[in-house]
Amino acid sequence: MKRVNFTLDEATIALLDEIAERYYHSNKSLTVRAALESLATHLGHNGWIIAGFTPVVAESEAECHSCHHTYPPGTTLYRPVFTRGRAQNALQEIPKEVWLECGECVSEDLRP
Ligand SMILES: [Zn+2]
Repeated sequence: MKRVNFTLDEATIALLDEIAERYYHSNKSLTVRAALESLATHLGHNGWIIAGFTPVVAESEAECHSCHHTYPPGTTLYRPVFTRGRAQNALQEIPKEVWLECGECVSEDLRP
């Protein structure tokens, strides 16, 4: 066990008090731990996430990884760039297969 000291605003303290009282017998340490565990679950596991895309002109017929449409040679497709990160859909291993996305699917991926 280790004692930590941090600063919270009034509204957050009120929320902490309320949740601690209602669900954790007024134990604020337990409340903060539960909140962090819940946040960790929400953020997902450590792995590889897509940091961005680089455009590639397909040299031969290529299939989109997401929508599986086939595109003719000369189409601009997008190759994902992976980085280490934490997310619900993080991959355990960096994919070995060719991974190209079409413009439409990349636009959808960028939604928050
Ligand atoms: Zn697609």
